[in-house]
Amino acid sequence: MDSGQARGSETVCRMEPTAAQRAARDRIAAELAAAGFALPGTLTVRAYACGKPGCRCHADPPRLHGPYAEWTRKIGGKTVTRRLTPRELAEYQPLFDNAKKLRALLTELQDLTLDIIETGSSQEP
Ligand SMILES: [Zn+2]
Repeated sequence: MDSGQARGSETVCRMEPTAAQRAARDRIAAELAAAGFALPGTLTVRAYACGKPGCRCHADPPRLHGPYAEWTRKIGGKTVTRRLTPRELAEYQPLFDNAKKLRALLTELQDLTLDIIETGSSQEP
């Protein structure tokens, strides 16, 4: 049925970044290149109330369980949450921090690119 490779739309790139925008891209690229290992998903640290009616977590004032560190991510389309031990938390924290930094850099690069294409289309002669 499928006749080989569809080429799709071939967009011609007509971006014309300024020197400052190129410099910004180079800085972001350098920071991306220097990034360390990174874990997927999110890390949350929180305290819980459990399901037991008479438990201390339902007292007044409540004394919640935890706080526990939980790592949530998608595995094969399913959301999986895993509780981390204090040792794992200490070990993995920098890897979550790296991931956060990478996401911030990517957002920065995308915003920069948006600026470039928007400037380019509005300043068409
Ligand atoms: Zn409880």
